[in-house]
Amino acid sequence: MEEPIIPPSEEKKQLNFVQQLVADDLAAGKNGGRLNTRFPPEPNGYLHIGHAKAICMDFGVAEMMGGTCNLRFDDTNPQKEDTEYEQAIMRDIHWLGFDWGDRLYYASDYFGKLYDFAVRLIKEGKAYVDDQTSEQIAEQKGTPTQPGTESPFRNRSVEENLDLFERMNAGEFDEGSRVLRAKIDMASDNMHFRDPIMYRIIKTPHWRTGDKWKVYPMYDFAHGQSDYFEGVTHSICTLEFVPHRPLYEYFVRELAGDTAEQYCPRQIEFNRLNLTYTVMSKRKLLQLVKEGLVAGWDDPRMPTLCGLRRRGYTPQAIKNFIEDIGYTKYEALNDIGLLEHNIREDLNKHAGRVSAVLNPVKLVITNYPDDKVETMEMDNNPEQPDAGRHPMPFARELYIERDDFMEDAPKKFFRLTPGKEVRLKGAYIVMCTGCTKDAEGNITEVQCTYDPDTLSGMPGANRKVKGTLHWVSARHCVTAEVRLYDRLFAVENPAAEKEVDFRELLNPDSLRVLHDVKIEPFLAENAHVEGKFQFQRIGYFCVDPDSTPGHLVFNRTIGLKDSWAKEQKKG
Ligand code: ATP
Ligand code: MG
Repeated sequence: MEEPIIPPSEEKKQLNFVQQLVADDLAAGKNGGRLNTRFPPEPNGYLHIGHAKAICMDFGVAEMMGGTCNLRFDDTNPQKEDTEYEQAIMRDIHWLGFDWGDRLYYASDYFGKLYDFAVRLIKEGKAYVDDQTSEQIAEQKGTPTQPGTESPFRNRSVEENLDLFERMNAGEFDEGSRVLRAKIDMASDNMHFRDPIMYRIIKTPHWRTGDKWKVYPMYDFAHGQSDYFEGVTHSICTLEFVPHRPLYEYFVRELAGDTAEQYCPRQIEFNRLNLTYTVMSKRKLLQLVKEGLVAGWDDPRMPTLCGLRRRGYTPQAIKNFIEDIGYTKYEALNDIGLLEHNIREDLNKHAGRVSAVLNPVKLVITNYPDDKVETMEMDNNPEQPDAGRHPMPFARELYIERDDFMEDAPKKFFRLTPGKEVRLKGAYIVMCTGCTKDAEGNITEVQCTYDPDTLSGMPGANRKVKGTLHWVSARHCVTAEVRLYDRLFAVENPAAEKEVDFRELLNPDSLRVLHDVKIEPFLAENAHVEGKFQFQRIGYFCVDPDSTPGHLVFNRTIGLKDSWAKEQKKG
């Protein structure tokens, strides 16, 4: 019998290990066949590309297997949180192409329930108020091989604990003067079981609950229970939470009692995304913004989603990159070159081709009539057969890149030099005849003659010359600003440099601004904000929101040269 032929597009993609665990649970009929994940950002900063990895997993697996994904703001620390961040986070998730529907939640919605649960644990003798400072508590933690020391306040009566906890919340005590701790086991092998802190006093008003609360739950006392309240079935997070998992389950079991046998959200951990030549810590990113070392959260050099958006990155390219690096159980440092490779691949398919001259010098075609203008038809995108063409005016005076001319050129220089021919892209073959210099010897103009027989459709159209140059008509072009971005940091792994302040590792050449860029009129007319283009022979660029009708600003998304793909071929 003949083997059935499965076309490659129908081949089932292999599930990653997290998706496989979820699929196994569904197949086993756990949670009544229900799948509900959540993405739990703390609104204390803007989302970065690391968060995108978590978002693609949380929303992606739900989408893939017919489940739902909640957006829950983990707003348990009023000192650092704000609605500005909340709004930005929602916008960025939508930009990536995901939606939480009506499943928008806030940990602060559960403050009442969490407080009641804490009171219950106190009554059951499972929690106590500790009057020590956090430093003293840390000192008594012990080490993984040595048990900790019990707090002198550990055996307070239930009545005293209830009274103190209530008064903590009433604002009677200073911040840092008391905490509520779970009474578990100061000798546990798992450090997180050594009487973890459940509540601390914070007097800063909360952006949602105002001054209703003076005690706020710690992550470990809020997260698992919030998952439980929402009916989350799979709580997918990053590897640093592996040692927290037993405590996560401990609190859920205490909360749910016997019913935890039927339903307890399952925590699954995967490796974080870390990128070379940048930092991913929100604290450090905030510092860069606050100290003006970058232009804001959406500075195109930042690894934030709003920064990448402004830089011209596409959601699809980011998703493809995340797919490429995959989900594992081992920490890794991901090559930013692979991200750049993905953005090139995506923009190559979708970005319209246009002409812009970044560093212009005038090229005069001495045998071309002064008053003549021809309209050349330029391909919009050779990668897309039906992308069509657009008109581009050609005249006697053009701009070309200064680098494309050399007076005394080496043999292998296939661009313009006296006595040699090049093709002007989409137009004629020209022969260089000379140049003009100013008093300092700077080249102010290059001259050439054209061969009228070499335009498309003419007998000499297919005549081959080695070089092809891009150009714009001097009379028709528009002057624009271009911002050339490079990597934010000068070293591969700034987080690993423990001896130096990370700010000293910033790349001093990460931004260069060009003010006299000449762009073809078609580009000037079609440059809407976030519009993406390939500047022929140079790279991918997008329109910056700083643009005004009379002054266009472009950001370089990425150059054309793909060193990552080249390395892979070699390797
Ligand atoms: P912090 O908690 O220190 O403020 P965070 O980066 O963990 O910073 P959260 O807002 O708590 O920020 O993150 C929300 C979710 O995103 C968490 O589930 C977290 O595991 C995930 N996440 C954060 N950074 C990364 C990363 N680099 N790679 C993958 N997932 C990440
Ligand atoms: Mg976190």
